[in-house]
Amino acid sequence: MTSILQCMDCERQYRTDTVIYTCDDCGGLLDVVHDLDALRSLVSRELFDSRLGSLDFPYNSGVWRYKELVYPDAPDDLIVSRPEGSTNLYPVPRLAKWAGVGTLYLKHEGENPTGSFKDRGMTGGVTQARILGKHSVACASTGNTSASLAAYAAWANLRGIVLFQNKQVALGKLAQAIAYGATCIRVNADFDKNLALVREISAELDIYVLNSVNPFRLEGQKTIMIEMLQQLRWRVPDWVVCPGGNLGNSSAFGKALRELYDLGLIDRLPRLAIIQAEGANPLYRAYQRGFDRLEPMHAETIATAIKIGSPVNYPKAVRALRWTDGVVEQVSDQEIMEAKALIDGVGIGCEPASGCSLAGIRKLVENGTIKPQETVVGVLTGHVLKDPDATIDYHADRIPNLRAVCPNRPIEAEGTLDDLRRVLSTPIPTAT
Ligand SMILES: *Cc1c(COP(=O)(O)O)cnc(C)c1O
Ligand SMILES: [Zn+2]
Repeated sequence: MTSILQCMDCERQYRTDTVIYTCDDCGGLLDVVHDLDALRSLVSRELFDSRLGSLDFPYNSGVWRYKELVYPDAPDDLIVSRPEGSTNLYPVPRLAKWAGVGTLYLKHEGENPTGSFKDRGMTGGVTQARILGKHSVACASTGNTSASLAAYAAWANLRGIVLFQNKQVALGKLAQAIAYGATCIRVNADFDKNLALVREISAELDIYVLNSVNPFRLEGQKTIMIEMLQQLRWRVPDWVVCPGGNLGNSSAFGKALRELYDLGLIDRLPRLAIIQAEGANPLYRAYQRGFDRLEPMHAETIATAIKIGSPVNYPKAVRALRWTDGVVEQVSDQEIMEAKALIDGVGIGCEPASGCSLAGIRKLVENGTIKPQETVVGVLTGHVLKDPDATIDYHADRIPNLRAVCPNRPIEAEGTLDDLRRVLSTPIPTAT
């Protein structure tokens, strides 16, 4: 069985061992296209269910459990896995009530080995780097891709190279890239400029590029949807809601759902809702204009993981929205941090960008798009420890133009029982 690379625009095909990121002829984005007819007789719900809880490599991974749908031709001895995935799907009745829906689950991709969903793509991308025989891998990143690339490169004994923006890289992410031994380069340019630089230097120095323009990463990220559906016993929710930055995740979700439907593993598609920050909303703006075109913009938001003004996967995200009858919504930084505080407050926790999902769900219920009786799955993209500054500054009310609704401020006390009694006699404020 052979998968191929195919341009989504002109449909030109390339072998999967070609080192290529966009179409040589037209510049279009590439898809890894699997032989669905051959797969139809191979994959089933039962096959994937039988691998749950497996202790054996590579099926102990929540990505490679679905190997037939990710990269069927990958030789097992070249697979680079931590292993990733197998993240929890939490029922959250208190947050459902706040958002105004009957049934809400949060799928926490912050529970991956390096604390974000990027690991699901990175295992595919670094595996492909080994299949191609590359010795170095690189990316430009708002943070989490770098953390993930650094770890997977180290694990595979490859050189990892990451380009950061000079400012506004969340502390946890920078610390990870340094710790895992990647070559960390700070460049005084925004994400979009850094990505262009990485693509040029990599072509010159024979480095494999692992940004989300890389189609093998998206194959790994598809497994968020597959695993979520398996956790729901293959009962399809009405909505899947996720944040949108470079739009790799939403693109991968669309492809996954379409393939699962074509293979008969699900009998209908959920609707996809992509949530952007108001200050980084190029997809939302294009959506408002009927997707006439993408207008790149200068991006500003406290949710640094989605501070992207020119998302590379825009055409694939639009395709995913068309396939799933999807919608795009925007939320303010105030709404993002409020939702994050609520997710933190039930004991789950996430980084700011993930707050988009819950904030977006509430907004879509308010404006009548999501109906109160519908079943909704929100995707949390990153771990609560990724951006400790944002959390601490929020609760200290130190973020300009933003107000903490229910701040949890550390209390100063003297080391006496009397003082502790005084402190503990005040009632606890409740968030939800
Ligand atoms: C990368 C990232 C995003 C954005 O995902 P895209 O696939 O680029 O749209 C959102 N949240 C977190 C935590 C991320 O690391
Ligand atoms: Zn093309």
